[in-house]
Amino acid sequence: MEPYELSISELREKLRKKDISSVEATESVLGRISEVEPRVDAYLEVTAEAALDMARRADLAIGRGEDGLLLGVPIGVKDIINTEGIPTTAGSRILEGFRPTYDASVTAKLKEAGAVITGKLNLDEFAMGSTTEGSGYKPTKNPWDLERVPGGSSGGSAAAVAAGECLGALGTDTGGSIRQPAAWCGLVGIKPTYGRVSRYGVIAFASSLDQVGPIARTTRDAAIMLRAIAGFDPLDSTSVNKPAPDYEAVLGAEVKGMKVGVPCQYFAAGLDPEVEARVRDAISRLEELGVETIPIDLPHAEYGVACYYIIAPCEASSNLARYDGVRYGPRVDEGGGLIGMYRATRDKGFGPEVKRRVLIGTYALSAGYYDAYYLKACRVRTLIKNDFDRAFQKVDAVVCPTTPTPAFKLGEKSSDPLSLYMSDVLTLSCNLAGLPGMSVPCGFTGGGLPVGMQIMARHFQEEVIFKLAHAYESASEWSSMRPPL
Ligand code: GLN
Repeated sequence: MEPYELSISELREKLRKKDISSVEATESVLGRISEVEPRVDAYLEVTAEAALDMARRADLAIGRGEDGLLLGVPIGVKDIINTEGIPTTAGSRILEGFRPTYDASVTAKLKEAGAVITGKLNLDEFAMGSTTEGSGYKPTKNPWDLERVPGGSSGGSAAAVAAGECLGALGTDTGGSIRQPAAWCGLVGIKPTYGRVSRYGVIAFASSLDQVGPIARTTRDAAIMLRAIAGFDPLDSTSVNKPAPDYEAVLGAEVKGMKVGVPCQYFAAGLDPEVEARVRDAISRLEELGVETIPIDLPHAEYGVACYYIIAPCEASSNLARYDGVRYGPRVDEGGGLIGMYRATRDKGFGPEVKRRVLIGTYALSAGYYDAYYLKACRVRTLIKNDFDRAFQKVDAVVCPTTPTPAFKLGEKSSDPLSLYMSDVLTLSCNLAGLPGMSVPCGFTGGGLPVGMQIMARHFQEEVIFKLAHAYESASEWSSMRPPL
């Protein structure tokens, strides 16, 4: 087995035993990047020299007997997360050439944990999208089928991990952007509870929904990564002051007697029959492990898409006002004074999906429409959250498919934004309610495309998710599967 094929926990073991050095592991990953990147297009920037430097430092630290959660492990970072001195574009031309002067708190935490950062991963512009076709630079391909999308917006993160171009990656999730690409690339991805992980230095899309989280090949790897990045940060006013538990410690715990809710609304019309079959099989497997499944009702689920696609664009229209050609990135000035410069910069810098969201958001927030759209959406959001609160009086977790279908073909939906929005129907509510949610691999379609099962739990109960997901993973063979690249 090549080092790039190892899981994070396996590599860590080998590094500790000095069976391999971090430089060797990093060289293996960089070699894999040279081999497959021309076909996968997961990276916007590979920081090979800096990575080898970090690996050399990690080897010295290991030599001194030091330890770290990710010491010497090659990890990729979604390009919406600030990395000091390294271009950070959010997938947008409006930030082309922008080099942050500081690290996001999660980047700093990766470094503290000893990670070797391999580079910046592609995404839909400002994380708005579900395919990475919305990147201002290039679309990423799904390593399981290069004619298909990897999902999005953290599509570069998922494709890179699936292809062996890093051992784990950070993504962000506003409405499904960690879980959906994880599902489509056969990986584990967790969106932590809102407030669990700092967003300081993470370029904002929709601030009441955004969270950072890991995408990895196994639940153990995701647990290691989440522990490394979770915890209170005084620099993010929405970060919650609760200690980050050792998620790895709960792996392998007994799941017998746990209660899991299966919402009928998430198995409704539009669900691909193969996806449904794989998820139902996975639920039966959980039952064999002694988990009790209970039908539950989430009556406002059907309003999730409408509610999200008001709230997220409203917040985005406000957050994106700062890209004006003055404060960040390139400026386009073709005359017309200050307003002309703003207009030309934003016209050239933003792609069509970002413009659509800024227009929708500005409209929905404008005087006379605010109550009818934004305020109403906020109220519906509360109803959606209340549905979950009610369900969690009876169950420890909720399980359902992560996505209604497997990965689409490149170009299949790019001219139909509404049908793309609809495809987010199973992941959005988790963000609206602020809950933690994971996608865990649960098999393949007849055509060889990965399918994911989603597990959600109460606020700050990521451990419950890890317990269930790990028990299922241990009773299935999916985490050992690799794409035929
Ligand atoms: N697909 C959703 C959107 O386009 C979610 C994106 C995300 O989670 N960043 O907004």
